[in-house]
Amino acid sequence: MVEALMLKLKTLPFGTHAIECHLDESFFNIDELSEVRRADVDVTLEVTRKSENTYHLEINCNGTVTIPCDRCLDDLDLPVEENYCLNVEQMGTELDDTGDELLIVPSDWRELDTAPIVRDTVLLAIPMTHCHESEDDCNPDMLDALDSHLAGAVPDDDDTQSETTGTDPRWEALKKLKEQ
Ligand SMILES: [Zn+2]
Repeated sequence: MVEALMLKLKTLPFGTHAIECHLDESFFNIDELSEVRRADVDVTLEVTRKSENTYHLEINCNGTVTIPCDRCLDDLDLPVEENYCLNVEQMGTELDDTGDELLIVPSDWRELDTAPIVRDTVLLAIPMTHCHESEDDCNPDMLDALDSHLAGAVPDDDDTQSETTGTDPRWEALKKLKEQ
């Protein structure tokens, strides 16, 4: 948990407050699906309490995330420069996070964890497909290893790896490359 991103809704003074923090990969690796290998992201969260129950958030993220290239699986650094604004209103008893620009939180909440919002702001900025700009920029050793592995049909030692069923064959190739 990032303490700085936990907004104290009830006790926040009126007006605008800037919160700054730095995020690394541990912030993004909350589940096994995460592809973020490294992260170096500065976040500025500007919170304006506009009234007793209404707030405005402006999130600015700047930095770099490192994810695997789709083609060669080697590290790919992606610059992150994202800005996201969100209004928050406290009312009723139900959380409603279906709106793009308005988040409704129950009126008895004392705190709001903005970490998931910040996390999504960065992760949604990562394009669906992400490769090194051209194949020439890819790691040639990785590409060779992947090629030869994929061309080699079923490897002889497959039995010894039967516990890793369901693994992407490219990852198997990578693992071999690292063992050499
Ligand atoms: Zn690549």
